[in-house]
Amino acid sequence: MRVKILGSAAGGGFPQWNCACPNCRALRTGTFHGKARTQTQAAITQDDQNWFLLGASPDLRAQIEATPELHPRAPSRGEAPRHSPITGAVLTNADVDHVLGLLLLRELQPLRIHATASIHHILRDDNTMFGMLERVANQASWADFTPGAWFPLLGPAGEDSALRCRALSLGTHFPAYVFAERQSQLNPQESSLGLLIDSPSGKRLAFMPAVPAIDDALLAELDSSDLLFFDGTFWSNDELIRTQGSGSTARQMGHVPVSSPEGSLQKLAGLRRPRKIYLHLNNTNPMLDEAGPEYRQVREAGWEVAEDGWQFDL
Ligand SMILES: [Zn+2]
Repeated sequence: MRVKILGSAAGGGFPQWNCACPNCRALRTGTFHGKARTQTQAAITQDDQNWFLLGASPDLRAQIEATPELHPRAPSRGEAPRHSPITGAVLTNADVDHVLGLLLLRELQPLRIHATASIHHILRDDNTMFGMLERVANQASWADFTPGAWFPLLGPAGEDSALRCRALSLGTHFPAYVFAERQSQLNPQESSLGLLIDSPSGKRLAFMPAVPAIDDALLAELDSSDLLFFDGTFWSNDELIRTQGSGSTARQMGHVPVSSPEGSLQKLAGLRRPRKIYLHLNNTNPMLDEAGPEYRQVREAGWEVAEDGWQFDL
């Protein structure tokens, strides 16, 4: 399995369009010791021909152009010039930052969308704009999955990629745009997921961009993986409140912070197996500054901080 990180920032990206926090300001003035990042997007393939997106970032169009493997192939004689190596997507929640990219794939291209029944319902039944993905036969087709059960990643016509996926239910909150009556009808266990993806080689990827809490059961799942992309959204629990003067804590937003005794750096220190990479970094996170003590601390603890364009083979 080949794994690519197309985007590594949290919602809003880095820099964020309406943000003048110290990180965003320094990046814009060219004095920042670190890199700009697009909103989180991973892509995986088993055969180098057919790619599956993990989530669907609002930055997907630029991410595709920056990734030659995802460009359409040149048509052979008599063939129409429309093609995409992207054959499917797996959704981990219904947040705007994680699903908006689907609408960018609407140009009548076949696509298999793997999602929980609740996320499928929110997008397809309640948001008519997603009907643009199903204007003609053989365009988008949805495949519902259940958290906890292994399922195959399939192409639009049911082609088996040989990749196997199991979703872990991590959060219980649907996005704020889902109206209250609908929220009460949906299964909260289907709202926010982490993914385990097994390659035929026997290697496992864990994709966990939004983790609200860490318990022993989750630690055991993470230690079964070979490559771990973990929630690096916020360095500290009150980061947004300190930066903005108001707002929510990291935990209220469904993200365990990196630092503090109850943070992920400490809680995941005992993991032995996986290569550990922080992904989904908010633009306020001091870890983005490669000259700063926070970056040094996570690197010395054996972690890496994801950058757009990174690639791995499992
Ligand atoms: Zn900022």
